[in-house]
Amino acid sequence: MSLEALLDQAAGKPVTFLTGAGISAPSGIPTFRGKGGFWTVGSTVYRAQELATRAHFRSDPWDVWAWYLYRKATCDQAKPNTAHFALANLEARLGERFHLVTQNVDGLHTRAGNRQDRIFEVHGSGRLMRCARHCTMDRFPIPESIVLPEAGQPIDEVSQALLVCPKCGNMARPHILWFDEYYDETLYRSQSALHAVADSGLFVTIGTSGATSLPSYAIQIANERGAVVVDINPESNPFRRNAERTLRGTFLDGDATQAVPALCDRIGHKWGV
Ligand code: NAD
Repeated sequence: MSLEALLDQAAGKPVTFLTGAGISAPSGIPTFRGKGGFWTVGSTVYRAQELATRAHFRSDPWDVWAWYLYRKATCDQAKPNTAHFALANLEARLGERFHLVTQNVDGLHTRAGNRQDRIFEVHGSGRLMRCARHCTMDRFPIPESIVLPEAGQPIDEVSQALLVCPKCGNMARPHILWFDEYYDETLYRSQSALHAVADSGLFVTIGTSGATSLPSYAIQIANERGAVVVDINPESNPFRRNAERTLRGTFLDGDATQAVPALCDRIGHKWGV
């Protein structure tokens, strides 16, 4: 079925977008597997899948922190692109009918203007830290005065002293879901994100490869609920293949910076906002 006909089916209903690293690639933030990606760089000794773990944080917390702070520097320098802005603009028009689930930790949706309380950051945020000893579940901004290291460089001692929980003074950790941890409602609102998908008549995946589990649950839920599903990606992936299999799905084969604004325009038109 054509995109226009599918949007007619969903028109007026709540919409959930799920974004992955691909939406931020045109902003200069490498994807999971892309060339020179954060996950291929790692530290001088460890690969990313070993580094981004609670186990490695326990044995060498400063190595883990150095890597996240290097990533933070890249994200801080990046700017939201037309795809991020199109989503912020659509949220302003749809209000309560708009939901945004992101796997990204770069903060570009917030900087583009999406309301923080409507974004489900299911893998955490590279701008936040929390108590490593769980004295509180509160999250705190990583202090601005920290000197962000170059790739593979250590953190200076003055900066180390700032990476502490403001409540108890023990060491803080990045507010990131690591490879050896589980999705969690209190910390990452992962269950609420899936409820938003279940509530939606249209579910759009953008720039995600499907390598993580929450997007896979989400697409199952969308299918079970009879939602229209649309995938945006220049490459094939499980969401595109799902869209090809179902009568209620389609995909847009292209760059998020072009496909997302075009789709948001069509949604705005069909939803009458
Ligand atoms: P992924 O790297 O596994 O997949 C990226 C996807 O984006 C691919 O399918 C690719 O074809 C697509 N893509 C590349 N350029 C695109 C473009 N211009 N427009 C549209 N799509 C494009 O990413 P993932 O599925 O999000 O999983 C990565 C994991 O790593 C997540 O857990 C995420 O938290 C983390 N991560 C986050 C960032 C970030 O915050 N920006 C960056 C890298 C990794």
